[in-house]
Amino acid sequence: MDKKDQALEQNWLGSVEAGEDLPDQEMPENAMNPTVAKQLIEHFRLDEAKADQNLTTFCTTQMEPEADELMKQAMNTNAIDKTEYPKTAAMADRCVAMIGHMWGIPENEKFPEDFIGTSTVGSSEACMLGGLGMLFTWKHRAKAAGININDLDHHKPNLIIGSGYQVVWQKFCTYWNVEMRQVPLKKGSDELNLNIDEAMKLVDENTIGIVAIFGITYTGAVDDIQALDKRVSEYNEDHPTLPIRIHVDSAYNGFFAPWVSGFEPWDFRLKNVASINVSGHKYGMVYPGIGWVVWRKNTYDYLPKELRFSVKYLGKTVDSIAINFSRSGSNIVGQYYNLIRFGKAGYRACMENVRKVSEKLSKAITDTGYFEVITDGSELPIITWKFKPGVDVKWNLYDVQDALKMFGWQVPAYPLPKNREDEIVQRIVVRPGMDMTIANDFIADFGHALDYVNHK
Ligand SMILES: *Cc1c(COP(=O)(O)O)cnc(C)c1O
Repeated sequence: MDKKDQALEQNWLGSVEAGEDLPDQEMPENAMNPTVAKQLIEHFRLDEAKADQNLTTFCTTQMEPEADELMKQAMNTNAIDKTEYPKTAAMADRCVAMIGHMWGIPENEKFPEDFIGTSTVGSSEACMLGGLGMLFTWKHRAKAAGININDLDHHKPNLIIGSGYQVVWQKFCTYWNVEMRQVPLKKGSDELNLNIDEAMKLVDENTIGIVAIFGITYTGAVDDIQALDKRVSEYNEDHPTLPIRIHVDSAYNGFFAPWVSGFEPWDFRLKNVASINVSGHKYGMVYPGIGWVVWRKNTYDYLPKELRFSVKYLGKTVDSIAINFSRSGSNIVGQYYNLIRFGKAGYRACMENVRKVSEKLSKAITDTGYFEVITDGSELPIITWKFKPGVDVKWNLYDVQDALKMFGWQVPAYPLPKNREDEIVQRIVVRPGMDMTIANDFIADFGHALDYVNHK
C-alpha cells in the first residue's frame, strides 16, 4: 500500500471494506481498522428499530447518563468473582435487601439472616430458580409424607398456572419434567386472569405449587393473589403434611405496583407467597439483563440445601444460588444506582408519569371511534385494545401494526391466550422513558396510520 491508500484505510469512506459485503460465515483473514469496523457495524444496524420507538418491549431503553457512565466503568468486572469485586457483591446484596422490603418483608427482618434472594440475568433465570425452590421443597415434603417420588407414573410433580404464562414456565416444566396444569381463560367471560376455582380443582398431592402471574405479559391483567392466598390457606388447613405455596411472577409489575395506588396486597404480606421474581430491566429501569428472585425466609424449608452452592467470598464461604456463573457486574451497579438515586419518591414519580401517559394514550385510542380499550393503563402500564363491536372496516389490527411501522413504531397485534385465541388484540407497553412528548408523537402517527389503512 502506498501512503495515500493507508490514509484511506483509516476511515470508512473510500476504504476497501466499504465496497465489500460484511463478513458472515468466515472470519476475515486480515484485520480492519477499528474506526471502519465500528462504522460498518453502525450501518449494518441502521434499519433496526429505534429502541425508544419499540412499544412492544417491557425492557428499559433509556437510563441517565450517570448510570450509563457507571455501567460502562463496571462492564469489565465479573459479578461472580465476589472476592475480587466485593463492592459489586455488596451492591447486589443491598439490592436484594431493598427489593425484599419493597415487597413487604417486615422492616425488622434482615437480609441475609432472615430472608434470601439473588440477582439473575433476568426473570427467566429468576423464575427457573423460584420453580426449583418449589420443586425441591415439594420433594422433601412428599418424601416425608411417604410418597414415592420416583414413581413418575403416579407422582409426576405438577405446577398450576394460568394460560397467559410467559414461555419461561413452559421451559421450566420441560427442563425439569414437571407437568404443567394450565388453567384456561374462562370462555365467554371478560376475565383475563387466573380462574381460582378451576386452579384449586387441579391441586393434588403432586402439586409443587401455584404460579400466580402479577402482570400477565399479553393482556396486562393480574391474578387475584389475595383471593388465591385465602383459598390456599383453606387447602393447607386440610392438608397439613403437603401444603402448597405460591410463587409470584411479577416480572414487570414487581417494580411498578409498589409505587402506585390500586393494588391489593400481592407479595410477602400474604402468608403463602414463598418467592417472587422481577426483571430489573423492566420497571426496575435498568438495561437488559438483570433480574431478581427473593424467598421470604432463609431456611431450607424455602430454599433447600441442594440448591445452594458454596463460593468463596472474602475468606468466607457464602451461598451461590444463581444458575449463570460469569456475567458483567455492570447491571448490578446500574440497579443499585437507580435504587439510591431515585429512592422511593423517584420510583413513585416515574410510575405516576407512566399512568398519566397511559391515560392520554388510552383516551386517544378510544377517541378514534374504532376500538374498545380492554386494559386502559389505569392499573398496569399496558394498553390493549380490540375492535369495537359493529365496526366494519376493510383492514385489521395487523394492518395497523404494519402502517405504524412506516413511522418507526413497533406495536404488536396478536391473539389472546387459550380459549379466546380467536380474539385479536393490539398492545402498547408504556415505559418510564415514554414521556408525554413521545406519547404525543405516537398519537399523531397513530392517526396517520389509520388514515393510511382507510385509504389504501
Ligand atoms: C418478561 C417476562 C418474563 C421473562 O423475563 P426476562 O426478564 O425477559 O427473562 C417472565 N414472566 C413475565 C410475566 C414476563 O413479563
